Amino acid sequence: VGTVTALALTGCTSRSEAAASAAATGFPAHAVVGVALPDKTSENFAIAGKLFTDGLRRAGFTPDVQYAPATNTVAEQQNQIESMITNGAKVIIIGAKDGSQLSTQVADATAAGAVVIAYDRLILNTPNVDYYVAYDNERVGELQGQALLDGMKAKYPNNTSYNIELFAGSPDDNNAGVFFRGAMKVLQPKIDDGTLRVVSGQTDFKQVTTQGWLAQNAQSRMDTLLAGFYATTELDGVLSPNDTLARAILQSISTAGKPYPIVTGQDSEADSVKSIMAGIQYSTINKDTRKLVAEAIKMVGELQRGEKVDVNDPGSYDNGAKTVPTFLLPPQLVTRANAAQSYRGDPALEPLTRG
Ligand code: BGC
Repeated sequence: VGTVTALALTGCTSRSEAAASAAATGFPAHAVVGVALPDKTSENFAIAGKLFTDGLRRAGFTPDVQYAPATNTVAEQQNQIESMITNGAKVIIIGAKDGSQLSTQVADATAAGAVVIAYDRLILNTPNVDYYVAYDNERVGELQGQALLDGMKAKYPNNTSYNIELFAGSPDDNNAGVFFRGAMKVLQPKIDDGTLRVVSGQTDFKQVTTQGWLAQNAQSRMDTLLAGFYATTELDGVLSPNDTLARAILQSISTAGKPYPIVTGQDSEADSVKSIMAGIQYSTINKDTRKLVAEAIKMVGELQRGEKVDVNDPGSYDNGAKTVPTFLLPPQLVTRANAAQSYRGDPALEPLTRG
């Protein structure tokens, strides 16, 4: 009803404009705020739940935070979002399990007058996403590609070419393609000029994805690559899209009795930062979850007070149906040179006292 009224009063032309207008009137300070998170395939998601619950409570809201389980994840996340709508949520923050399968749920949210914020992962092909808050994912990929190149040059100063393999994240996560695109902006010209050789020949996104971002899938692909292509050939570097997969790739290499190549990562996970300090994993990317959660909660506050939502990238995130106003945070590269500042203790106790 709220949406229809806003449409009639303001003459808005699209549903999302209508939702923004409806929200511009604000809502009660103790309102329910839904947070639908994907499975815990990285430390960043694993700790986000408690940060949201605590932060939203501190801001006076009533949090309804739910994780998608490991199995039947998409259907469960869809049900969780519907239950948040039924629960009367005024804002629903979504870290999508599969950003292309939530159109019905976000349309229902908009129809019920709730504002939808995509968190970390963009929701695709629907006009019913009001805002997006994330680290700059393409920049993450560029930093990974550059780190791979720089790491190999430093480790093998006499080489004129390098043997590498490429890994990407899960194909159902929009970020996976964005990270890969960013990395290939740096790596493709070097593949073209012969500086880099992808020995397996597997350079297409579809050939290098890791279903579900699961460690065992990356580890078994690395086992197969080593057995098939590296019996007598040296592997100099691996593009890994995150830390969970980096450690799985390094595990495969160690089990095969091969020397560690340069391996990239992302998330600044405690075990990977330790590995970087020990000279095993080469790099990671720090995306401080506390800052991302705080930014999302700041948006909720602005919406609650009926203020204009602060975005810093209003024009570049096209989800296939609309340009989604976005707030982007800058990711930070971590190597051995700055790893010590990035790790200050047990992540269970001190989740993100990093960078
Ligand atoms: C996140 C990464 C994370 C990955 C797996 C991506 O969407 O941006 O930080 O490593 O999902 O959980």
